[in-house]
Amino acid sequence: MASLARLAGIKIEEVSGVGNGRGSSLRRSGIKTVADLVGWFPRRYIDRTRNPELALLPLDEEVTAVGKVQKTSIRRPRRGLVIVESTITDGTGSVSLVFFNQDFRYRQLSEGAEIAASGKIQRFKGKLRMSSPTVDVLDRPVEGLATGRLVPIYPGVKGVKPGYIRRWIHNSLRRSSPMSDPIPEPIRSELELVDRETAYNQIHFPSEPTDVDNARRRLIFDELFRLELALALQKRRQIAESRGRAHAVGGELAERFLAGLPYALTEAQWRVLGEIRSDLRAPHAMHRLLQGEVGSGKTVVAVAAMLEAVSGGSQAAVMAPTEVLAGQHFLGIRSLLERAGLSPGEESETRLGMESLFAEPSSDLPVRIALLTSAQVRTNYDPGATRSEVLDAIASGKVDLVIGTHALIQEGVAFGDLAVAVVDEQHRFGVGQRVLLKDKATEADPDLLIMTATPIPRTLSITLYGDLDVSHLDEMPPGRSPVATSVFPKTRQAEAWQVVREEVAAGRQAFVVCPLVEESEKMELASATAEFSRLSKVFSDLRVGLIHGQLASPDKEAIMSAFRRGEIDVLVSTTVIEVGIDVPNATVMVIEDADRFGLSQLHQLRGRVGRGEHPGRCILISDPSTPEGKARIAAMADTNDGFRLAEIDLTLRGQGTVFGARQSGMVDLKLADIIRDYRELFVARREAFALVDRDPDLSHHEEMKEEIRALLGEKVEWLLKS
Ligand code: ADP
Ligand code: MG
Repeated sequence: MASLARLAGIKIEEVSGVGNGRGSSLRRSGIKTVADLVGWFPRRYIDRTRNPELALLPLDEEVTAVGKVQKTSIRRPRRGLVIVESTITDGTGSVSLVFFNQDFRYRQLSEGAEIAASGKIQRFKGKLRMSSPTVDVLDRPVEGLATGRLVPIYPGVKGVKPGYIRRWIHNSLRRSSPMSDPIPEPIRSELELVDRETAYNQIHFPSEPTDVDNARRRLIFDELFRLELALALQKRRQIAESRGRAHAVGGELAERFLAGLPYALTEAQWRVLGEIRSDLRAPHAMHRLLQGEVGSGKTVVAVAAMLEAVSGGSQAAVMAPTEVLAGQHFLGIRSLLERAGLSPGEESETRLGMESLFAEPSSDLPVRIALLTSAQVRTNYDPGATRSEVLDAIASGKVDLVIGTHALIQEGVAFGDLAVAVVDEQHRFGVGQRVLLKDKATEADPDLLIMTATPIPRTLSITLYGDLDVSHLDEMPPGRSPVATSVFPKTRQAEAWQVVREEVAAGRQAFVVCPLVEESEKMELASATAEFSRLSKVFSDLRVGLIHGQLASPDKEAIMSAFRRGEIDVLVSTTVIEVGIDVPNATVMVIEDADRFGLSQLHQLRGRVGRGEHPGRCILISDPSTPEGKARIAAMADTNDGFRLAEIDLTLRGQGTVFGARQSGMVDLKLADIIRDYRELFVARREAFALVDRDPDLSHHEEMKEEIRALLGEKVEWLLKS
C-alpha cells in the first residue's frame, strides 16, 4: 500500500522518463517528489463533448484548440531543418500547427485524426497558427490518458511539455495503486468523501464533471484536515508542556480597580473578563486571543486581568507595537489606577482630588507601573528613575506592571516573576516575539493574552490562531454613535476642510492622514512635510501639528501629548496614528488618497475618531482608479462593521496574503481556500481536534502522523516528537 508520506519520499528524478534535466525543471516549479507530482493538479479540463469553437479562441493566450486534422505536410527547406505543418478545423475556423524538427508529427497528425493542440495562437502572414504546440491525439489514446470526456490541462512547468507531466502523473498513480487512506472510514462515510486513491485518479483523469467535484472535495478536506491536525497537536503540546500556574482571581486589586472605573463595564467586557479569569484560575497557561473592534474597550479588561497576577505577588507586562501606543497605555493605565486609588501617585496631578472620592487612602495597595521602551523610561512612583534603576526594579519584582514595546523582549530585560503577559495589536508582532516574551518568565509560563483590533473572520482566526482560545468583545461601550463616513473626490477637498473648520469651531479636533507613500521613508517624510506646509496655509488661523514615523520617540510623544491636551487643532499625520491612539475629543478624520490604503488600515484609522461623547466623521478623499481601490472605498462607505470589512478585504486580497510569516510552515493549501471553504474548514477542525483528543500523540494514526511530517515539513516536527 502506498501512502502519501511514502510518495513524498520518492525523488522526482526516480519517475521513469524524468531524469536529471527535466527533474531540475520540475524542482524549480516546486515538484520535488512523487507526492508533489500527483499533487500537481489540473488547472482546468477540456470537455471534448463541448469543444470551444476554433473561431472563438483568443490570440496570444495559452489555449487548447480541438479539431480534426485536414491535411499535414512535411518540408525540408534546408539541411538540418524539418518543418511539419498541419491544419486542423472544427467547421468554425481553422488553425495551422507548425513543428520544427519533429518528424514524427507527420505520422501522428494523419488526416482525419481528432486532436487537441495546446499553445498560443498567433497571426502569421494572415493565417492563424500555433508554433510547436503540445498535441494530444484524442481518438488514439496514449495509455488511456485521453479516453475520458475531460482532458486535464496542467499549469505550465517551464522546460517540460504538458504531455509529459500528464503521462508521468498517470504512471505514478498507476504505480502507487493501491493507495492507502489515512482518513478514518467513519469520518469518510459521514462526510461522504471518496477514498484517496479515487480522489487522485479522478482529479487528474475524470470521466464526468462530478468526478472532479468529488475529488476536489476530498482533497480539500485532506489539506484542511492536515492543517487543523497540526494546530490541534500544537495546542495540546502547549498545554502539556506549559508549566502554568493557578492564580487566585477576584483579588482586591482587581475589584478595587473595577470599582474605580469612571464607567460600568459592558456585558461583553464582563463576559470576556470571566473567560480570562477562568483561564487564570486553571493550572495550565492561558493562550487567549482577545478580538474586539477598535474602541470596544480591550485595555481595561487586560488591566483587570493583569492585576490578578499583581494581587498574587507576581508581575504583569503589556507589549505594544509602537512607542506612541506604549506611552499612551502608560498614561491611560496610570490614570485609571489613580482613579481607583491604586497608584502611589508621585507623578500624579489628580491624586489629591481623587483621594477625596474614596474612603481608603491611595497608598495602602500601590501598584507600581513602569514604561520601558528603547527611548523612554517612566514610572508612577519615582519621577527621576533612570533606565538602570527601572531595569533593576523590574528584575527585583519591585515594579508590578511593565508597559513597553518590543524593548521588553530584548536581552538585558529580566523580570522577577512575570506571570501575565499581554500583547497588544498582535498583527504587528510575529510569533517569535510572542515566544520571546514567554521566555522572560522564570517560574512558570506566563498566562498570555493577545489583543487584536484587526477583526479577523472566524474562519481565518481559527486557522491563523488555531492554537489559541478566542474571546470576542462584540459590544461597544454605550453612547457611541457610529462614525459617519463620506467620500469626496479631490475636486471637493475644500468641503472636507470646511467640515474640519466647523468641528474645530465647536471645540473638537481633527486628524488629516497624508497620502500613503510606499517608495521609501524619505519620500514619506517629504510628502508629509509638504502636506503639512500646504495645510498650514489652508488652516492659517488654526493650530496645525505634524507627526510622522521619522520623528524621534520623545518628539512623537510630545506632539501626541499636545494633541491630547487640545493644544493642536489639526494633526497632520502618516499612518503612525493607525493603531490604538485614543483622543476622545478628536472627531474628524480626513484621509487623503484613501483608495491607496488597505481596508483594514482604513478601518483602523477611522477608529481614531468617534471615541468620545461626540459623534465622529470620516472623510475619504479619493478618486479611485483601480477596481480594488473602488471596492475598498465602497466598502468603507457602506459599513462600519470591522468583521464585514475584514471579509471583504480577504475576498479582495485572497487568502495567500494573510498567512505571512505566521504558521506559514503549516499552510500548504493548493486547492482549499479557507474563505470559500469555510464550512469544510469547520468540519475538518472538529474532526481533527476530536482525533487528537482520542489519540493525543497520533500513535494509533501512524500514517496520518507520517503524512503531516512529510507534507508540512520541519516546522511541525516539534509537534510530533514524543
Ligand atoms: P480598544 O479596544 O480599541 O483598545 P480602548 O481600550 O482603548 O479600546 O477603549 C476605548 C475607549 O473606551 C477608552 O477611552 C476607554 O476608556 C473607553 N471605555 C472602555 N470601556 C468602556 C465602557 N465600558 N464604557 C465606556 N467607555 C469605555
Ligand atoms: Mg487598544
